[in-house]
Amino acid sequence: MLGSAVNIGASVGIAFYPDDGDEVDTLLSNADIAMYEAKQQGKNNYHLFTEELDRQVHERLEMEQAMQSGLASGEFELYYQPKVSLQTMGVTGFEALIRWNHPERGQVSPAEFIPVAEEGSLIFDIGNWVLAEALHQLQEWEGLLAPGVRIAVNVSSRQLSQENFVDHLESLLKHFDVSPDRLELEITETSVLTHEARVRLHLERLNVIGVHISLDDFGTGYSSLNFLRELPIDVVKIERSFVANLSRDAETSTITYSLLELCQRLDLTTVAEGVETPEQLGFLQRHGCRLGQGYFFARPMAAGDVPGYLENPPELQI
Ligand code: C2E
Ligand code: CA
Repeated sequence: MLGSAVNIGASVGIAFYPDDGDEVDTLLSNADIAMYEAKQQGKNNYHLFTEELDRQVHERLEMEQAMQSGLASGEFELYYQPKVSLQTMGVTGFEALIRWNHPERGQVSPAEFIPVAEEGSLIFDIGNWVLAEALHQLQEWEGLLAPGVRIAVNVSSRQLSQENFVDHLESLLKHFDVSPDRLELEITETSVLTHEARVRLHLERLNVIGVHISLDDFGTGYSSLNFLRELPIDVVKIERSFVANLSRDAETSTITYSLLELCQRLDLTTVAEGVETPEQLGFLQRHGCRLGQGYFFARPMAAGDVPGYLENPPELQI
């Protein structure tokens, strides 16, 4: 545009002849791989092609292809981990956690494949599959779940900021005839920060519909206290590393105690993640934490094990 300043930047990928290829096509494609890495590292940057980079890119591509076909052939499954009231020890909900039953590798952790999916468009397919599967399960369990018991679904930042996210969710809720009140979405602060305007709008709409929102992994990252005040958030999940270090260092205990107090004053429900010991439970109870989740109560379980668990919950040693 005439008269406007235009800022341009460049990301450069470099491949050398003959080490990185002796044909133009190979050199260009390897330089392209290196450029992609330069962009990944924050743009306005350069990167050299290396064998290691090549290996990583191929691994990522292979995993993406395997995820795509695994999604089509039913290799993914949702596990459910109970959240428990720390006053009554009753179940208040479940977090849906995705599992990939890989035909050769066995069960692959989401910590491994979700970040790969998030780099491309697969996260949308996976995210939509998770939402549909959780709502289908809610429909099936309607007679089984006590009033107020919810299923929480993890929603990735890019999924939440997709333009049609709320419309799509509304149509799924209608399709499975599930009350929005049964559903909770676990979002991260990074989601809000990276796509702020759109995500705020979506959260407001979800709030109007009646879907609950919880802020995942609170206490790490930016922990913007303004988010707690400004956004329609119902639940705050205190990150697992705080709970793990409660008995090990006094500073962690002080931070956790303060976070719990702050959330109570803002009338937010608190969930402690990763509760593994009676000592951690005792601390959390003394400091008013409302809910807990972790191996102490139950490990994530296959959907087929949930009815038995609800009928006959394990005796907890407290
Ligand atoms: P997260 O949201 O923080 O999920 C909690 C993780 O802690 C789960 O790992 C769970 O199995 C584990 N966990 C629960 N209790 C304990 C405990 O007492 N001790 C320990 N050490 N760990 C405990 P998981 O299932 O491997 O999930 C890892 C991450 O993958 C999740 O972290 C979440 O960020 C992501 N994820 C899982 N399912 C989905 C999904 O459907 N969509 C998206 N976008 N992300 C997902
Ligand atoms: Ca979560």
